[in-house]
Amino acid sequence: MTARFDAYLFDLDGTIYLGDGLLPGAAETIARLRADGVPLRFLSNNATKAPAQYAEKLTALGIPTDPQDVVNTVTVTTHWLRTHHPDAVVFPIAERPLIEAFEAAGIAMSEDPAEIDIVVASYDRGFEYRKLQIAFDAIWFHKRAFLIATNPDRYCPFPGGRGEPDCAAMVAAIEACTGTTCRAVLGKPDPAMAEAALAGLDVDPARCVMVGDRLGTDIELAHRAGMASALVLTGDSSRADVAATAPERRPGLVLERIDQLVG
Ligand SMILES: [Mg+2]
Repeated sequence: MTARFDAYLFDLDGTIYLGDGLLPGAAETIARLRADGVPLRFLSNNATKAPAQYAEKLTALGIPTDPQDVVNTVTVTTHWLRTHHPDAVVFPIAERPLIEAFEAAGIAMSEDPAEIDIVVASYDRGFEYRKLQIAFDAIWFHKRAFLIATNPDRYCPFPGGRGEPDCAAMVAAIEACTGTTCRAVLGKPDPAMAEAALAGLDVDPARCVMVGDRLGTDIELAHRAGMASALVLTGDSSRADVAATAPERRPGLVLERIDQLVG
């Protein structure tokens, strides 16, 4: 028996793979944990891809994965709306995967500001003035809608140092013109992400672990959700970053490679 926890949540980029390359030991680690029959979930804050697209990528990289094992901000935003605001009419400022998930979940959507209850801001490469005007009219003019965001990220990093403006840019535009602030910001480190990931597993979060490469999102999620945490040094955060972090926000484990989790 390799597994020391009842469920394992893994960040993807910087933890399982880096860009298009699997990180050393990742496939073996996942295979050993699966051999123990322990539930695993893969987490991402990126709502521009459907869980099935992540499952395809992981499978192609040598980690056969079911779409149900992937929990991203498409999953968590849909789960959150259905749980907390099942009757709300939403206006998604988002790409196709999130809109399709809302359609599949039966969430009502509208572009009529007089009907919108919730504006959902996301990482949207089709963002335009028309969408900003609808959000502005729904929130400020009609005074009926409130704003939520799928994730807090300022930018989405690419291998090699470039990146793209992420959800925070859309949020800032809407907040700036309406004077409102986001009522909920889902995705890591919001505990709603852990709730969606552990939904249906019947496990105690305290007996589960979150594994990731970022202190501010992955490890912070673990703290807020009452889970154990492991930082891998294959991505964003370094040992120096850990040393600069308040003791109560530090990870429980710090690993050079992901296979040290099962070694
Ligand atoms: Mg990462």
